[in-house]
Amino acid sequence: MRLSKDIVIGSIVFLFCVSLFPAIKVVATYPYIADLVEKVGMEKVSVKSLSRGSWDPHTIVPKPSLIAKIRTADLLVINGAQLELGWLPALLNQANNSGVMPGKKGFLDLSNYVKLIQTPTNVSRAGGDIHPAGNPHFCLNPDFIPELARAIADKLGQLDPANNSFYRENSRSLDKAWKTQLAGWEARIAVLRGKKVIEYHRNMDYFLERFGMEVCETVEPLPGIPPTSRHISHLIEKVKHGDIILILHDVYHSKKTSAFLSQKTGIPMIVLPHDVGAVEEATDIFSLHEEIISRLCK
Ligand SMILES: [Zn+2]
Repeated sequence: MRLSKDIVIGSIVFLFCVSLFPAIKVVATYPYIADLVEKVGMEKVSVKSLSRGSWDPHTIVPKPSLIAKIRTADLLVINGAQLELGWLPALLNQANNSGVMPGKKGFLDLSNYVKLIQTPTNVSRAGGDIHPAGNPHFCLNPDFIPELARAIADKLGQLDPANNSFYRENSRSLDKAWKTQLAGWEARIAVLRGKKVIEYHRNMDYFLERFGMEVCETVEPLPGIPPTSRHISHLIEKVKHGDIILILHDVYHSKKTSAFLSQKTGIPMIVLPHDVGAVEEATDIFSLHEEIISRLCK
């Protein structure tokens, strides 16, 4: 009798400990991915992001603390499309965690589930363009978000088959809530359909294309290449008599050149968030898209 009582108490303690320590340890390269994993995995996962939303996603500083996060992970979820090319390979080499290397069960590349735009027409992209595989900022196409959530649910289900239906149900709930929001966003932004903008870096192209807006020029001559005074003079001449309504800037490049262009042309400049956490209002994937719509429609 005494023995069975000990077994019952032991079992309760064991179950309590299991509930305290989630089953799957996930590392995401960017905050928007961590948010999607949390929304799909809920209490069954613990998620860490390797970067902050206010950072330049192309150039994350590879600190030892990031290596430690990868070393103990069960699953690594990346954006892909070479957005992490400049910083993740070195971290992966040093983390020595074979389970989360590309091609392994504990690895998920979200770019495999979307259609990229601005893909190269030739193998040589001379001049140092940092979008060599096409535009990697696809998380700002709202149509892709349910697809990405589904891909995450499938992967979590592979790693944790006992909770497969839980992940799928959460993904379906997200899909439903997302489509409700999207209908509202489409109605609000309809007035901007056909409008033209200038962009500093090609962060917003998926979003703008989705809602029928057009990027006429970029302040960077090529993605990742800082503007020269000659390029800016050319831009001022080209756009000052045009019908461009806004200059779009991001949170991590210096605003100096975009502000100068705005002053010379009279075209207003606004700052848009590109990831969860880029501005304080963008606390998750929903409010990220909401904030972009709000700032564009102001
Ligand atoms: Zn970029």
